[in-house]
Amino acid sequence: MTASAPSSLEYETFVSDGTPRAGEERLPNGDRLVSSPLTSTLIFGEEDAVLVDPPFTREQTEQVGDWVERSGRRLTHIYSTHGHGDHWFGTAELVKRFHDVTVYATRGTIEVMHQQATDGREQMWDKRFPGLIPDSPVLAQPIPADGFQLERNLIQAVEVGHTDTDETSVLHVPSIGLIVAGDVAYNGVHQTSSKAATAACRNGLRPSIASPRSSRARLWPATRTKTYRMIPPFSTEPGSTCWTPSGCSTKTRLPASSSTG
Ligand SMILES: [Zn+2]
Repeated sequence: MTASAPSSLEYETFVSDGTPRAGEERLPNGDRLVSSPLTSTLIFGEEDAVLVDPPFTREQTEQVGDWVERSGRRLTHIYSTHGHGDHWFGTAELVKRFHDVTVYATRGTIEVMHQQATDGREQMWDKRFPGLIPDSPVLAQPIPADGFQLERNLIQAVEVGHTDTDETSVLHVPSIGLIVAGDVAYNGVHQTSSKAATAACRNGLRPSIASPRSSRARLWPATRTKTYRMIPPFSTEPGSTCWTPSGCSTKTRLPASSSTG
């Protein structure tokens, strides 16, 4: 690599398995509810790395930290695609472990983070996962409008509005055709669409249970979800844009026209 040439970037994903929820609520078959698995993505060059979507429990965060450490790269940035706590509550633990890390999110996502860190934790997260979530001060600062650099490769946020919550984004790395999609795209786990905003989105199949085919999938009570929109078959065509959706353990390729709910 010369001083002026960008490094050739690569990426890997780490899937944190779902965490059993506290409480008496059960699926119709008697099983406990379990949170969705989570995908964290590491984008890395020769020396430096960017982590996207840290997980939310202490245990998951320690495992992701070990994985980052094993990469041998210096963690320079953490980015969260949206404000749901399961995509960033582990951030402060990672910042303690990896020094001089810049934490970015969009301005809108940072607003959602403040809600999740206060009312969100009190009303939901700490009830469902008592004692498992570390301190979660909001450390993110607004990502610059023109993005930032990883070894002279541009990395940019693309705001996509309301998906499974308000003010969501994907992270685009044009030099390698990568979009880290957060909860905009799901694979191997049922899409959360309980906040679907339109009647069209709520006119789904209304099954009593969603049972995705993937071995990583978890049963999910359909009463919590208003609709089901099937993702078209994944494209394996060379040149398709790469996505790393939530719950995806492999490099998945979606056609650009995919509807992802
Ligand atoms: Zn989400």
